[in-house]
Amino acid sequence: MTCNILRHVIIRPLPCRITSPFRGERTKVTRMQALRPWRHIERRKSRQIMVGNVPVGGDAPIAVQTMTNTPTEDADATLAQIRAAAEAGADIVRVSCPTEESTAAMPRICKESPVPIVADIHFHFKRGIEAADAGAACLRINPGNIGSEARVKEVIAAAKANGCSIRIGVNGGSLERHLLEKYGEPCPDAMVESALDHARILEDHGFDQYKISVKASDMFLTVAAYQQLAEATDAPLHLGITEAGGLRTGTVKSSIGMGSLLWAGIGDTIRVSLSADPVEEVKVGFEMLKSLGLRTRGVNIVACPSCARQGFDVIKTVEILEQRLAHISEPISLSIIGCVVNGPGEAALTDLGFTGGGKEAGKMFVSGRPDHNVSNADMVDHIVDLVEKRAELMRAEKEAAE
Ligand code: SF4
Repeated sequence: MTCNILRHVIIRPLPCRITSPFRGERTKVTRMQALRPWRHIERRKSRQIMVGNVPVGGDAPIAVQTMTNTPTEDADATLAQIRAAAEAGADIVRVSCPTEESTAAMPRICKESPVPIVADIHFHFKRGIEAADAGAACLRINPGNIGSEARVKEVIAAAKANGCSIRIGVNGGSLERHLLEKYGEPCPDAMVESALDHARILEDHGFDQYKISVKASDMFLTVAAYQQLAEATDAPLHLGITEAGGLRTGTVKSSIGMGSLLWAGIGDTIRVSLSADPVEEVKVGFEMLKSLGLRTRGVNIVACPSCARQGFDVIKTVEILEQRLAHISEPISLSIIGCVVNGPGEAALTDLGFTGGGKEAGKMFVSGRPDHNVSNADMVDHIVDLVEKRAELMRAEKEAAE
């Protein structure tokens, strides 16, 4: 087996590169990116691993993850949360396995879950072995908490026997004591050293189905650690700002930190950590990827902030449309613009568009062209109908092509 750690690389802070140089095989360039090259993000070349049936790394789409917060031993509640997250678009869901009771619930959870399950293991290496035997698709182990190499070796053997992958999940708040003594405090060098030490243990035992994360609650520390790590290994990277905060503050912090990494092409799977419903984490994760053109799931609404020129209540309309179109998973762009100042221009770039400005009515654009007038009173139902029909058509075309 070849060692995937680039041992010769000197660990040092790197500038965040908005336009990264070509660093490996080209990801698929869409027609839109070819027409508008400033939208193109060159993804870092990583090797691909499997988390259950979800590929992570390489050219695979960036996978969106979340984590349940129910007691894992309550399989019904945990599965309900997993299903809700999967419906919102989660590709992978992580559950905590702190006790024997929790791993006892894992066989049913893993069997009935619609998406692969990652078992989160801290402290008790035996929980990792139990979770692997129970059908977990991946084990997340924290180098600072898992203990000796002998214990890690046992977890590796269980992962190998069960076809599990492993995430080496370094956390700035729980680094190994010897690294804290060496570096004085959590810093990028310490986090990357911890990650690479454990990657070597896995590789020395013939295991290369692993991904790595180096999370911290400090956004600057997290970004610097990922930048270094991205240069030091070709393992797929799981991104996250840990303990980012509530829905608003956590979203902003995660979007700046994870967004800058994703923009620089770094990251193969993401979790937005919010003190909020896991479904919100999935929604924010997807919005982040959609904003960067890295994933296209669901309706992407382009809307103006509104002002005195608006021909209808833009804010209320967008709020209702976001709720009523949340079930659509096909990538459809929709512009909702208050008046003709920006309406026709935005509508020309979206699949469907509504521009206000007429007398209690506005203009509906289809595929970028003005198509028909709709009254403000009928506009929401009409737009929902048009989007649903377009999604249905896209589904039918996809099925026919398969
Ligand atoms: S598009 Fe029109 S309504 Fe919307 S913010 Fe601009 S000027 Fe105001």
